[in-house]
Amino acid sequence: MTLRRLPEHIINQIAAGEVVGAPVSVVKELVENALDADASVIDVTIHDAGTTLIRVTDNGHGIAREDLPLAVQPHTTSKMPSDRIELVTTMGFRGEALASIGAVSRMTITSKHHSAHEAWALILDAGSLHQPQPATLAEGTCINVENLFYPTPARLKFLKSPAMETQAIAACIQHLSLAAPHIHFSLHTERKTLLNLVPTAQDTRPQRVYAILNTKDDVLPIEFSTENTSVAGFIGVPTLNRRTSDRLFFLVNNRCCQNRQLFTATRYAFGDLIPKGRFPVGVIWLSLPCEDVDVNAHPSKMDVRFRNPQHIRFLLENAIREQLDKLAPHTSQELTHQALESMHIIAPQSPPATARTSFFSSTPPSSLQRPRFSAVAPEAPRPYADPTPAQRFSAQDSSLGPPLGFPRCQLYKTFIVSEAPDALIITDQHAAHERLVYEDMKAQLTSSLAAQTLLAPIAIALSETEQQALLPLEPLLAQWGFGLQMHNDKVIITQVPAALKNSDVAQIVQDFFSEILAQGTSRAPEEALHALCSTAACHTSIRAGQTLSLQEMGDLLRGIERTPEASQCNHGRPTHIRLSKSDINRLFDRT
Ligand code: ADP
Ligand code: MG
Repeated sequence: MTLRRLPEHIINQIAAGEVVGAPVSVVKELVENALDADASVIDVTIHDAGTTLIRVTDNGHGIAREDLPLAVQPHTTSKMPSDRIELVTTMGFRGEALASIGAVSRMTITSKHHSAHEAWALILDAGSLHQPQPATLAEGTCINVENLFYPTPARLKFLKSPAMETQAIAACIQHLSLAAPHIHFSLHTERKTLLNLVPTAQDTRPQRVYAILNTKDDVLPIEFSTENTSVAGFIGVPTLNRRTSDRLFFLVNNRCCQNRQLFTATRYAFGDLIPKGRFPVGVIWLSLPCEDVDVNAHPSKMDVRFRNPQHIRFLLENAIREQLDKLAPHTSQELTHQALESMHIIAPQSPPATARTSFFSSTPPSSLQRPRFSAVAPEAPRPYADPTPAQRFSAQDSSLGPPLGFPRCQLYKTFIVSEAPDALIITDQHAAHERLVYEDMKAQLTSSLAAQTLLAPIAIALSETEQQALLPLEPLLAQWGFGLQMHNDKVIITQVPAALKNSDVAQIVQDFFSEILAQGTSRAPEEALHALCSTAACHTSIRAGQTLSLQEMGDLLRGIERTPEASQCNHGRPTHIRLSKSDINRLFDRT
């Protein structure tokens, strides 16, 4: 075997594999460069999901002619004034993006340095560098990346579907735009404009968050800090949860970041307020001293390492819990919009329903396209559109009476209809009561629980390994009110928490024990106990189909108002929805 040093263009292609994994990584690197160049307008165009063309145009300070060939050299950067990576404040610092992108595509950089009179263009084609040529460009920099991965076609086979790659690019630009809400970002495909994020005059951070999360009504501000570390941002109300974590954005020292510990801590803070397997939405900024975080954990610069991850987790969980714990009754307005839209669709001779503002677009649909009877007009001021969500959620206007209003009637023996001066509220009686019973049981669990001796003890067959797993939990189970007797091949349960007395004890105890035995993590017993309470609550709460008096309905509504978690049931579904009076008026064209 003969050893040889690889040729430069192969070295660059190999290195490019780490920086450029998909079209979205090219977009990310080029947009970051535009941000570092102090651009105020950044425009991205992609064709064929970025595989045939990615063009990023900015109005930043540009690159001087003599610097162009240097900018595309590997490990060449203008961004590290000292030799300490941890002090870097720019998005870039590794000096390898342009070299990597030009190694796996045909890249043309056209740029006009702000102090020069003319623009210059430079081509780097599959790693081979051309001479700079005079070009035409009024200001800034325009980088065209054509036929990405044509020198390394194997890479193309690993790309996801065009729709998914496009979605990833849009999400990436949204994420970056949160780091710079004063900057105008846009994204176009060959067919349409997917993003047009225009900065607003005042306090731009919240405005940008509302545009990205596509709601203003359903987000809560969070803020928590210790001496030199802080968490700030916005989280969606629990019922705004999603199938993936794609609407949960983190920025660490204003740098976009996808760190697993942050996702886990956030999901954990939401606990049983959202269903298993679903994710909250939100935008969270963390700021901490630069020596406490390593931003160079990965070539893509998307992950970071924390010096003290437990502390970060503590801050994040507290910031989120603090808001969730004092949340006034509130379920996602998204649900109300959906309800109104469906009413609109089934109304006789109704005009076609208006599409809600597209998921990507922050520009409301043009009024020309909107039918006269539009049920949902996203751009119209909403009755709760206070200046800040903080005010909206904390201070309930007492002149409006109780937030969930007074009960008027019961529908289908399942839903409570109540009236508040500004809204009509529909409450799912079973979902709501189930949550109240569940929270009540959980509250009792924190102290030693009253126990109830079973007249007919329950026997559960156990293997030897299962017995071994159960032994260390015995003291905890005793504190919760369980009395156990271990036998050779089974455990006999003689006593259970008193809260379970009205339910189908045998079945839920069986489920409880199979759950803790199946899981075996440190949190397992507590989670299993919560699952047990949840099942017990489901069995003991008011059912659908049960007639309620006005008094009982009123008691239930007041109970929800007192219990911050009660906007969603134990399975994370909403317990009530609110139709504002003005939305009802709009249904009848009484504006
Ligand atoms: P890094 O961003 O880590 O420095 P890059 O390879 O992304 O590495 O870019 C190399 C250099 O090219 C940058 O340091 C910067 O000087 C210059 N550059 C790249 N893109 C732009 C741009 N859009 N505007 C101005 N300068 C740019
Ligand atoms: Mg860069």
